Amino acid sequence: MAGVRLVDVWKIFGDFQAVKEMNLEIKDGEFMVLLGPSGCGKTTTLRMIAGLEEPSKGQIYIGDKLVADPEKGIFIPPKDRDIAMVFQSYALYPHMTVYDNIAFPLKLRKVPKQEIDQRVREVAELLGLTELLNRKPRELSGGQRQRVALGRAIVRRPKVFLMDEPLSNLDAKLRVKMRAELKKLQRQLGVTTIYVTHDQVEAMTMGDRIAVMNAGVLQQVGTPEEVYDKPANTFVAGFIGSPPMNFLDASVTEDGFLDFGEFRLKLLSDQFEVLQELGYVGREVIFGIRPEDVYDALFAQVKVPGENMVRARVDIVENLGGEKVVHLRVGGLSFVGKFSAESKVREGEEVDVVFDMKKIHTFDKKTKKAIF
Ligand code: ATP
Repeated sequence: MAGVRLVDVWKIFGDFQAVKEMNLEIKDGEFMVLLGPSGCGKTTTLRMIAGLEEPSKGQIYIGDKLVADPEKGIFIPPKDRDIAMVFQSYALYPHMTVYDNIAFPLKLRKVPKQEIDQRVREVAELLGLTELLNRKPRELSGGQRQRVALGRAIVRRPKVFLMDEPLSNLDAKLRVKMRAELKKLQRQLGVTTIYVTHDQVEAMTMGDRIAVMNAGVLQQVGTPEEVYDKPANTFVAGFIGSPPMNFLDASVTEDGFLDFGEFRLKLLSDQFEVLQELGYVGREVIFGIRPEDVYDALFAQVKVPGENMVRARVDIVENLGGEKVVHLRVGGLSFVGKFSAESKVREGEEVDVVFDMKKIHTFDKKTKKAIF
């Protein structure tokens, strides 16, 4: 087993910077998710770790071994990096049985026949494929095929697994099931795993840590709790969570309020102190609050009109069964609340809305970085 380390890694295609100054350390045995929107450079990063792409600059280490450093002319090819990859399209050999598909990488490496048999059967047992070893891929369901692809990766006992959206071809229900299975399997095997996805739910549920990328730049690395509770900037704050965080411009008043023009919210004393110390009093900030921290006042514990409560118009109610996503408006300001299913709000009516002030975020207007 081994960790993976990227030091000041860049990838430049022509004059396009796909990955910029990437510094990332993945610990031995860790499940690290690379998360970001389409085109942000996640796959390119993974391909550089795999050795399918050479970095333009920087160093990549697998364990203690330097596997890529263009300045020193070092580039270890994929087959010598002791990694295994699982992709979105799992490309099983259609004419081979499940057994032969899993055995294939070992045959290539000329592992003795008896050992191959033992390892294939072990892996099949682990993945619940024992009964299916004699079938061909076309006789399997999508989830079973994906497990065979995993089996083919696992059987090699690599130091590192690299996975690029491996579940995205599966239907929604199977994806949820495989998500849990894959996570469990990774724990059992303890192999360092780097997993690329644009799906924030997948990232939150599977990752020990998440590396959030945007436009080739690493935005934040942290546990799911850290990126959710303490997003480093408005990009991370808006990318993680569904529906996304609400953002509104507000000015910080001398008497400790956030003034939105249409209404005001009273800052908690420690929040106001931070803004005072950093010189934000009298200036505008970006206020952020997650829909789940906006309540129908009937279900809120602490409500003080003019401090954490405001009367809002209900534009749209999306009933999700277990909860209601409510689109609200105060004058020209719109935001979304996730209300409990018991809330009786109706479109076109007014409702008292409470903000959980302990859960609010503020960001610098210019840099978009979190203040708190
Ligand atoms: P997706 O989720 O859509 O796969 P991604 O975050 O994995 O997105 P990458 O595949 O890493 O994105 O691509 C990052 C950027 O680099 C994209 O804008 C892409 O067009 C560009 N790019 C990738 N490979 C090449 C290449 N060989 N030549 C030129 N540009 C490339």
